[in-house]
Amino acid sequence: MSENQDVQKRIDTLTETVNDYAHHYYVLDQPKVPDAEYDRLLQELEELEAAHPELKRSDSPSERVGGEPLDHFRKVQHDIPMLSLSNAFNEEELRDFDRRVRDGLGVNPTYSVELKIDGLAITLKYEAGEFVLGATRGDGTTGEDITRNLKTIPSIPLKLKESVTLEVRGEAFMPKASFNRLNEAREEKGEALFANPRNAAAGSLRQLDPKIAAKRNLDMFVYSVGQIEGKTIDSHTETLDYVSKLGFKINPEAKHCNGIEEVVDYVNSWLDRRGDLDYEIDGIVIKVDSLDHQEELGFTAKSPRWATAFKFPAEEVVTKLIDIELSIGRTGVVTPTAILEPVSVAGTTVQRASLHNEDLIRQQDVKIGDRVTIKKAGDIIPKVVNVLTEQRDGSEEDFSMPEHCPACESELVRIDGEVALRCVNPECPAQIREGLIHFASRDAMNIDGLGERVITQLHSRELVRNVADLYRLEKEAIMALERMGEKSATNLVEAIEATKSNSLEKLLFGLGIRFVGSKAAKTLAMHFETMDALMEADKEALIAVDEIGDKMADSIVMAFEQPGMKHLIGALKDLGVNMTYTGPKRITAEESDSPLAGKTVVITGSMEQYSRKEAKTEVEARGGKVTGTVSKKTDLVIAGEKAGSKLDKANELGIEVWDEARFIDELS
Ligand code: NAD
Repeated sequence: MSENQDVQKRIDTLTETVNDYAHHYYVLDQPKVPDAEYDRLLQELEELEAAHPELKRSDSPSERVGGEPLDHFRKVQHDIPMLSLSNAFNEEELRDFDRRVRDGLGVNPTYSVELKIDGLAITLKYEAGEFVLGATRGDGTTGEDITRNLKTIPSIPLKLKESVTLEVRGEAFMPKASFNRLNEAREEKGEALFANPRNAAAGSLRQLDPKIAAKRNLDMFVYSVGQIEGKTIDSHTETLDYVSKLGFKINPEAKHCNGIEEVVDYVNSWLDRRGDLDYEIDGIVIKVDSLDHQEELGFTAKSPRWATAFKFPAEEVVTKLIDIELSIGRTGVVTPTAILEPVSVAGTTVQRASLHNEDLIRQQDVKIGDRVTIKKAGDIIPKVVNVLTEQRDGSEEDFSMPEHCPACESELVRIDGEVALRCVNPECPAQIREGLIHFASRDAMNIDGLGERVITQLHSRELVRNVADLYRLEKEAIMALERMGEKSATNLVEAIEATKSNSLEKLLFGLGIRFVGSKAAKTLAMHFETMDALMEADKEALIAVDEIGDKMADSIVMAFEQPGMKHLIGALKDLGVNMTYTGPKRITAEESDSPLAGKTVVITGSMEQYSRKEAKTEVEARGGKVTGTVSKKTDLVIAGEKAGSKLDKANELGIEVWDEARFIDELS
């Protein structure tokens, strides 16, 4: 095949794939792939088309804005096209945009910056102050008349405060809470879930029955004026003021910036705050503020030259799965892990992702060599969400789980009722190593300087075979490890020694009894106070403790019946490891005379004198209970600085709120 034939083939594939993805996204409101994957393929196509304009197809998606309007709505021609926005994916591209603008104008402009609401663009027409027509963007020139659906959105005024004739544009969206409720209800009914609030909002507004849209709690921010009769406006900032006065809802976070440095600061300030908002945003929109300047800069076929969208790092991306590795956890569970071609997700490079278990690999039909979607929400370990089977080329290979443990060769078993495969050999070196890592970890014994690297060496050299051996380690043995000098070895011995006086719950959690997390360990330690008392407790005594259930009680009884466990605890005792609870005393609500006694408390924002964890301990020590979400059951909210949506919710529900000063007062 000649080079041109190769390029034409790639252009054909890309054109068809991108058109198919765009159809699912814009028309069916059910995207097949994450946005980052769509953007990547479109960009590849645009680059090929730029290098070989003669090979560009007439149905290329690169010239188009949005998708075809649906047939079952009346079509609306836009007097002024509704365009897309160019993108900046990093600070450098943002500065390039500023440079292009300054070059174009020959002066330094001011900017208006605002949140890029992840919804859909809508235009609203008013005649003499009356709402007469509302439409979607559609393909940019022709949209769909969805007036009846838009009338169900409470924030869209049906009558304006002035009798003007104008067209405004903005973003209709679905708040996160409504989106979650909607998907929960759909899941219960076994209906397909919406991929994100944007698609849910679009899907709701493109229903023939307005009663459906009315139930979906949609909202809208207005951000521009398309056309207006009898009034001149000079800047975007003025536009926002004016539409707000007319009765439209504008986004409160918009800001006027005196140059690119202020723009960059604004963008950065939103990178880790976007989660605090009640609605999704996918970036920041930067607009040249002066309307004269906007006119001077003009438009490309697809987007204005006077605006750009800074896109936040994607939380969902596509990459190639190059292998599947198995890891053995401290309880023997065998977890398949996807080894990935390195890819940036939400700002960090990801090379591994969990595949959970064999059943899931089968369900998702994962093969080695597949392109897969990876998702990372918050700080959680990335997951493989789905496989792009349509992008397979036949070179992918099936994967099956082995029958034997890759670490100790013993046969793997599937315990009844569990999907996980397990290595049940208590001597399995992989399990022991994981157990040691857990023992030294922060919420367990918290041994400074004893990380995975050192543990792996100590274990493979057989210096440490169980957690008790850690307390027998001598400086000289540690010094023999790689990259370990005398000073670090001394520090490590001291750090290990210091943990002997830890309160009981740290040791209890560190022992890694199944189902006993750090919270349960604390509850148990507070209740029983000594290891002996806990070891003597039968199932009944255990489930009598608040928050300890059947399954955990069984697991504790079983763990302490094991001769190996008894022997280990005896050894730790002999080595001088503390076996009693030394934290704040447990006071029941009845015994406490604190105003916090018996109250359900939510702690939010940041305090100067207390971390959230410390504040929680103080509340619990006075007979209060701390929970994570504000609801009607909450009695009190303790709000530090920069408290966000939880404080708003408390005020909305009329719940009592204390600031830090009041909290400190009430503690004494
Ligand atoms: P866009 O969403 O990147 O930007 C333009 C839109 O931003 C405007 O139309 C407007 O609706 C919106 N917007 C939000 N807040 C705004 C504000 N304050 N001021 C001005 N506009 C604001 O561009 P697009 O052309 O609508 O869509 C492209 C996006 O859709 C890309 O992110 C692409 O990845 C995604 N997409 C994804 C798939 C998929 O399969 N996952 C398919 C097609 C498109």
